Amino acid sequence: MTADVPTQPVFRFAPSPNGHLHLGHAYSALLNHAMARASGGRFLLRIEDIDLGRSRPDFEAAIYEDLAWLGLTWEAPVRRQSQHFADYAAALRQLVARDLIYPCFCSRKEIARAASGQTDPDGAPLYPGTCRHLSVQERQKRLSKGQPAAQRLDMAAALSRCGERLHWAEYDLGTEPRDVVADPGAWGDVVLARKDIPTSYHMAVVVDDALQGVSDVVRGADLFHATSIHRLLQALLHLPQPRYHHHPLILDEAQRKLSKSLMSKSLRDLRAEGITPAEIKARLGF
Ligand code: GLU
Repeated sequence: MTADVPTQPVFRFAPSPNGHLHLGHAYSALLNHAMARASGGRFLLRIEDIDLGRSRPDFEAAIYEDLAWLGLTWEAPVRRQSQHFADYAAALRQLVARDLIYPCFCSRKEIARAASGQTDPDGAPLYPGTCRHLSVQERQKRLSKGQPAAQRLDMAAALSRCGERLHWAEYDLGTEPRDVVADPGAWGDVVLARKDIPTSYHMAVVVDDALQGVSDVVRGADLFHATSIHRLLQALLHLPQPRYHHHPLILDEAQRKLSKSLMSKSLRDLRAEGITPAEIKARLGF
């Protein structure tokens, strides 16, 4: 345990209300809840709805209903990220003030073309830093013309400024924590505010985990590599370092990760088929 970690553990489940919860979400929520209860800790629910175009109130209402159906209870009030854009803007300003942020005007197509096959850990085209090289005058010209811009972190500058070796404690259930060396550089100049949204997943999650005093981040293995960016942002913004546990993803019959896009059965589909919460828990090992 590091000095940063508060004595009463704080866990959170942080779904995005852009679809119905499926078994993978149920596993993550139940695991966070069980770990909080077993450690005398707190369990928070956070609604990650920064993407106002994709988030829907009916999906949010369904999250509360599905989690309650599973027998989970959480603290009120629930933090909804869409109500806290000012917090994320304040964090971004700190980085702007340190000259670590630049505007990027590139379209997805331009990035894909310029990336020439290089990818980030998620498999997306790696941003080659095109707009990092624009002159101050050119930036001003485009901004004054109202050209939309994302805000990117100058990764090389951020890494040299941060100066420390970044790592995190990864807890695998039932074993000693292992030290993982973070590799934020593999992501290139990440977007910290999108063209259409004044923040990004990475920025909002790091700011919120700190503001909510989250001591233990328990989430799916698909976010393992994103933790490198989160550790860098925590270091740059002088935020505490949580412990991490990235749990295996629940796979469907075809060994594909369950996701909304794969049309996996939602918890409410399963409920409509007459499956009980006890059966769901048993299937997921709780
Ligand atoms: N909102 C993210 C998701 O639904 C999870 C974020 C996190 O746990 O850090 O995948």
